[in-house]
Amino acid sequence: MVRVRFAPSPTGPLHMGGVRTALYNYLFAKQNGGEFILRIEDTDSQRFVPGAEKYIIESLNWCGIKVDEGVGVGGPHAPYRQSERKEIYLKYAKQLVDDGWAYYAFDTPESLNSLRKDMEDKGETFAYNYQIREKLDTSLNPSMDLEILKERLEKENHWVIRFKMPSDRAIHMKDLVRGDVTAMSSTLDDKVLYKRIDSLPTYHLANIVDDHLMEITHVIRGEEWLPSLPLHYMLYEAFGWKDSMPEFAHLPLLLKPEGNGKLSKRDGDKLGFPVFPLRWIPEDGGDGARGYREDGYLPEAFVNMLALLGWNPGTEQEIMTMDEMIKLFSIEKVNKSGARFSPQKALWFNEQYLRSKSNSELAILLKPQMEANGVSDTDERIEKVCSLIKERATLVCDLWSLAKFYFVAPEEYDQKVYAKFYKNENPENLRIFADFIETIDDFTTENLNERCHAFIEEKQWKMGQIMNTTRLSVVGSNSGAAMWDIAEFLGKEETLKRMRAIK
Ligand code: GLU
Repeated sequence: MVRVRFAPSPTGPLHMGGVRTALYNYLFAKQNGGEFILRIEDTDSQRFVPGAEKYIIESLNWCGIKVDEGVGVGGPHAPYRQSERKEIYLKYAKQLVDDGWAYYAFDTPESLNSLRKDMEDKGETFAYNYQIREKLDTSLNPSMDLEILKERLEKENHWVIRFKMPSDRAIHMKDLVRGDVTAMSSTLDDKVLYKRIDSLPTYHLANIVDDHLMEITHVIRGEEWLPSLPLHYMLYEAFGWKDSMPEFAHLPLLLKPEGNGKLSKRDGDKLGFPVFPLRWIPEDGGDGARGYREDGYLPEAFVNMLALLGWNPGTEQEIMTMDEMIKLFSIEKVNKSGARFSPQKALWFNEQYLRSKSNSELAILLKPQMEANGVSDTDERIEKVCSLIKERATLVCDLWSLAKFYFVAPEEYDQKVYAKFYKNENPENLRIFADFIETIDDFTTENLNERCHAFIEEKQWKMGQIMNTTRLSVVGSNSGAAMWDIAEFLGKEETLKRMRAIK
């Protein structure tokens, strides 16, 4: 049984890279008939941001990524929030100490800082590792008396448990994206696993213990965790859990649209696109951020676009439903190199999805925007408008600006278009044209088209001049669907009213 987990830390709004990690986990799980678990890794109290967990859950919901087990859903391994599992971890850390895989360290931040400084002054770099752990204030120091150690562990509250990284191991690892990777343990330092001061594990310990207890079979996560993989391998070995160790896949970074480097909020602000799924309004009042949902993207389009950042099915196919992606996804086809994000491509996806919607689906999106602008109409007419504007909309929020003139007469005219057409003989011709149109009873697109054409020809008016002037009076600018489609929709009375209202 495949069991994967998405394990975000609630340190702020979920970046779109994080959503992609969740998505790949979900696709992989569903393809294999497995379970997708949501675990909240909130053991770093310093970086905890209120509202972030809620944001993460809402983002997954919006994207259609369904959680089978985890925070907000429950399940056989509850609780799924690490802060609520606090009691579990010390036991495991102590087990490692007892088995000789970890040790107690009493150094204060001040003593470590001064040590670091001394070494840097000598041109050396400081690393907390096998070379110095026995010389520092640790349970490995030969001068540490067992009785004193016990006493200090009881009395002092700033000790930590560190992993005792072996000095001479070649750690061979397998990554489903990158293939085989080897690291030398001598280059790794002794990471803190547990902190007495807040009785909390660090990420490494909690992550491994929970993946084990929650029976996770595959760990799919961002590339930034690859440097932690050797430690994680060693932890599985130290715990004696190697046989049930999950497989690992590290996903490529999302890169800036131009140049190199990780896609950041700053790139989004600079180039005018969101990097978060939903709008983020910090509870403590700090800087917020725009989101795809509020910017008018459809979740299907956002998810489809994200899926293809770092993976493709090996064919030309770009538009895929969630179910198709579940069928086609494969970790082997995930790219090793970073995926460049393109805001234009994101817009393109949204356009494709908007166009593929039925008129009644689009009407459901348009209605709240109409309501917000105090406009209402029948479903039939709203759907008709949707059919006329759908080819022109890129974002959901474009629908209202494209639809507005079908429901509300222009209150002002596009200055440029007005200056270009509302001059010379055009205003007078428009009045004559309106009088003619008043005589037409069959107000259908075809009939209007035929009769008006003939009339313009008979008058020997310039087609472009009169048609653009008419459109200006009815629409307020030079945009919109075919003129006689608009007139048919508005009906004779409203069309004439508008043609005669322009001054
Ligand atoms: N809590 C880690 C994060 O925020 C999880 C990394 C992992 O998946 O192991 O990304």
